[in-house]
Amino acid sequence: MEHVDILIVGGGAAGIAAAKAAFRAGCGSIALVDRKSAPGGVLLQCAHRGFAEGLTGPEYAGRLLRDFPGEVSVLFHTTVVSMDENRIARLSGGRTLSFHQLILATGCREIPMGALPIAGTRPRGIYTAGQMQEMMNLHGVVPEGPVVILGSGDLGLILANQIAALGRSVTLVEQKNTCGGLARNRRCLREYPIRLLCGQTITQVKGERMLEGCRLSGGEWIACKTLLIAVGLRPERTLIHGLGSPSWLHLCGNCNTVHPMVEGVTAEGTRAGIAAWEELNGSNNRLGDSEER
Ligand SMILES: Cc1cc2nc3c(=O)[nH]c(=O)nc-3n(C[C@H](O)[C@H](O)[C@H](O)COP(=O)(O)OP(=O)(O)OC[C@H]3O[C@@H](n4cnc5c(N)ncnc54)[C@H](O)[C@@H]3O)c2cc1C
Repeated sequence: MEHVDILIVGGGAAGIAAAKAAFRAGCGSIALVDRKSAPGGVLLQCAHRGFAEGLTGPEYAGRLLRDFPGEVSVLFHTTVVSMDENRIARLSGGRTLSFHQLILATGCREIPMGALPIAGTRPRGIYTAGQMQEMMNLHGVVPEGPVVILGSGDLGLILANQIAALGRSVTLVEQKNTCGGLARNRRCLREYPIRLLCGQTITQVKGERMLEGCRLSGGEWIACKTLLIAVGLRPERTLIHGLGSPSWLHLCGNCNTVHPMVEGVTAEGTRAGIAAWEELNGSNNRLGDSEER
């Protein structure tokens, strides 16, 4: 079985920063694994200029990768499917990898339609906001209008802005009494004729094969062809379920806490890389001491 000193799962901003920091600290045996075909994670689908000093997501990822050490072994198209308390990770394709320290940088997952108490059928035309963002920005898909977006946080607003700019009719439905999100993302409400309905939620969707519309808690019926669910993100920690909090495990980025800004993710990744190296050194020293005695 192959062995690495530090295994990093997830090649988004957190995982990239962790790999760079662990290498700079002195670790020469690091593997970074990601199920996708390129590093950057969610940054790659963010076409808007909201990162650092006005960069797009791909530009920020490019900057982060500029001095990425070639000595780090990077495995793309590879999913870590499970791991256990003996520090063995099982990868897609049947490969196994033992490790000394684990940095979990798996990001977060969206809350899907199925998790919400919305009655009715499940016709085509319903997506999570992140799915639609990926389809639009990486695959050139344009959503069919009219479009309803459930949730007015940053992700809902970023999509509302992008879709309204394409000339589609957009309605934002927000359960709270005020719109969420950063002020800079709320600007689209002034720039485009986006309808914002606060204090309401969607209670029912209708349509046989294709989505025809949805009903709001206030009773209003809105005809639409696309419904985007943007109601929140949850840290993705399925892999470590049941493992507790061993000293060899380090969490960073959105799998630790959902961060609104990428700078916090990068800083946390850097700290995790250093902490993993220190823990590795500490336990090697402890082992050395006991062998000398
Ligand atoms: C839509 C959106 C817009 C944003 N806009 C801004 C903005 O304008 N400005 C700003 O500063 N910040 C923004 N952020 C916040 C910031 O960009 C993100 O918080 C940050 O990029 C997340 O990095 P991460 O490494 O934690 O997670 P991710 O980028 O999600 O990376 C996680 C990686 O782990 C991989 N992975 C997961 N599980 C496995 C597994 N089992 N095996 C292998 N690989 C796995 C995934 O493929 C993914 O590549 C935005 C976030 C989102 C979601």
